[in-house]
Amino acid sequence: MQKTAKKEKVKTNPRLSAFICVLSLAILAACQGQPVAAVMNVEVVHTAVPPTSAPTNTVLPPVHMQLVSPTPATEMATAMPSFTLPDPTQPPPASPPPLPTHPITPSPAHPITPTLPPPTFTPPALPQTAPDEHYWLRRPVAEGGIVWTNKHYPYGSTRGGELRPHHGVEFDVPYNTEILATASGTIVVAGNDAATAYGAHTSFYGNLVVIQHDFLYNGQPVFTLYGHLNRPLVEVGQQVNAGDVIGLSGATGVADGPHMHFEVRLGQNSYENTYNPLLWLWPFPDRGTVVGRVTFPNGALAYEAPVRVERIDSPSRYAATTTYANETLNADDLWNENFAIDDVEAGYYRVTVTAGDNKFTQEIWVYPRRTTFVEIVIEP
Ligand SMILES: [Zn+2]
Repeated sequence: MQKTAKKEKVKTNPRLSAFICVLSLAILAACQGQPVAAVMNVEVVHTAVPPTSAPTNTVLPPVHMQLVSPTPATEMATAMPSFTLPDPTQPPPASPPPLPTHPITPSPAHPITPTLPPPTFTPPALPQTAPDEHYWLRRPVAEGGIVWTNKHYPYGSTRGGELRPHHGVEFDVPYNTEILATASGTIVVAGNDAATAYGAHTSFYGNLVVIQHDFLYNGQPVFTLYGHLNRPLVEVGQQVNAGDVIGLSGATGVADGPHMHFEVRLGQNSYENTYNPLLWLWPFPDRGTVVGRVTFPNGALAYEAPVRVERIDSPSRYAATTTYANETLNADDLWNENFAIDDVEAGYYRVTVTAGDNKFTQEIWVYPRRTTFVEIVIEP
């Protein structure tokens, strides 16, 4: 275990036993931040109505993990924690859930190194970590393109205080890349935002398209927004299917270069109703998502706390992010999170949150195409 100047805490999260996890690696953006406080209480009522085109989901039983004493990554061969499946207190599963028996080998992970090949994307029949998981959206870029999200400016980030808190994610596609509908629905916005503000102000997303999808989530309409387009290729009122081309990417509005800003909005088509798209986009088949919540002992959320997810069963791969910058960033009903990291390779990881001179850690499994929840309480 890494030593710190003052102290280190390892908390065991009971919620880990309620969810199974997922996988692989992304490379990093760590930003400095100042923890502030705010309490968030979300009573979860799940009445998800999946899209008719969504794969049939199987509910998987919880995994009970036994954490072992953290060991250096160099001891990887003998350092794997033991775990048992299924939870004997739960009804037996209809079919055995996948165990992490896949070979854990480093594979090209991320966008940040441009020489690496992109992950391939095959829409899978998704298993679920939790019954109400809602990876209902395809990637908005065709396979072979930049199908992954930018890790330097994720949802909720200020990119180290440089920018306003991000209400979406970026796909760093070049000019005139075909942008695809992530699910079926009706076009409700196709044009520019010079007269009507769909973002923080007018002329923010430039040319944009908004789709209202054909399904509800917890009784609420679901919208996706595609910003900074060179031009939309659809009209308001038009019906689209998943994978239809709806526009060409660009750099209109407030954009420092070509990319496509992507948002998920629930309930209303408004800037205040955005949620983390990483919890909606289908994960790559060999990768998982780490989602978590970092709080102070009184339950207050920690803002812009640096989070590092470092692999400990294989040398030196890590991903990093910061917790959401403030209370305007909405947490998912299911996870109540304040950070998420996608495209994490399957493996065993140490999650570290730094608060001043202290580090607080948890160890987690990440599984292919699954979500791993981690909760860490820090003391300033
Ligand atoms: Zn953006």
